[in-house]
Amino acid sequence: MKYDLMIRGGDVIDPGSGLRGHMDVAIAGGKIVEVAPSLREADARKTISAKDRLVIPGLVDVHAHIFVNCSDMGEHTDRLCNSSGVTTVCDAGSAGSANFAGLRFVIDKAVRTRARAFVNLSAIGIVGTARSGELAHFPYADPEGCAQTIAENRDIAIGVKLRYGPGIVWEYTTEPVKAARKAADMAGVPMMVHITDSPLPLPEMLAHMKPGDIVTHCLHGRSHGIMGPERQLILKEVVEAQRHGVIFDCAHGRSHFNFPLIEKALDQGFLPDTVSTDLTFGSATRGPVFDMTTTMSKLLHFGVGLDDVVLRATATPAKILGLEGIAGTLRPGANADIAILELRDEACEFRDSDGNTVTGKRRLVTHLTLKDGRVLYERPAE
Ligand SMILES: [Zn+2]
Repeated sequence: MKYDLMIRGGDVIDPGSGLRGHMDVAIAGGKIVEVAPSLREADARKTISAKDRLVIPGLVDVHAHIFVNCSDMGEHTDRLCNSSGVTTVCDAGSAGSANFAGLRFVIDKAVRTRARAFVNLSAIGIVGTARSGELAHFPYADPEGCAQTIAENRDIAIGVKLRYGPGIVWEYTTEPVKAARKAADMAGVPMMVHITDSPLPLPEMLAHMKPGDIVTHCLHGRSHGIMGPERQLILKEVVEAQRHGVIFDCAHGRSHFNFPLIEKALDQGFLPDTVSTDLTFGSATRGPVFDMTTTMSKLLHFGVGLDDVVLRATATPAKILGLEGIAGTLRPGANADIAILELRDEACEFRDSDGNTVTGKRRLVTHLTLKDGRVLYERPAE
């Protein structure tokens, strides 16, 4: 047999590879080996029909929390990711230099979802809530330890995380941003900066960011976001930074996704570069996030095109994680990470992080999730 598995007759959407249309996807040895219309069914040991379904690369969630901690997915990581088509997840700074070994243990031993991580500038990371101090006490800032942790964990540690918010950093100046910059430069990796409710205007932070760095929670509706305190027009510094390669990540979360701001931003031609969840156990079970496909469905509702949404949940985040050509793509040679979804026409209520609701007409539903050619999730019959 030429193929272990064939996914037949689905509507392939992989904008990162330019693959689009009615095609079969053939898998052998855990890799994608062929994507073409009408492959020979007799060449496959097993086939899965994807008729009337979308066949897209396994989703890549570039901002979530998986450490076993107060506000992470912990032991629920695989279930919550895989049931939403996610095959690769990145922990956005739950751990720092002092407890990264614990996160490493989780990634190596406790999750089958492919995982990468940003290392928090704070040695203690996000332990519990902001009350734990994260970076409220200057001695917790550990640029050297952060860079060293990344150097010692190159296979999974891909960047530096700074959460810049009230009560999280030790002073409301650019000093915390400079410390994160120092750690990122020492390790030769990008930094991701959380900007929700920042006491500092975003342009002051952007001044310290380089192409490849990530502004996360870019669609929050609180002070000092992409539209400044007025929340009317996208700041020119934001447009410039995005044009020069700074990445704007949405990371929905409990506090970072505001429908009125999203409508205004889209009207002005702003699109986030990546779609991500900031998922924790709480936001997955109580909402408003629930999962990756729900976040994608919300953006579809506000008029973002399906290809644009898929690209931002697959190839673009895969590149940030150093997985270009390996994950987030259906190109032959890549790992066979595949999500079979349905764009279902039905009324659904969507909620943002600030209590606003809208009634949508369609949503993405996950039917099957494959990683390395193996089925990790199959939707129960309805
Ligand atoms: Zn987060």
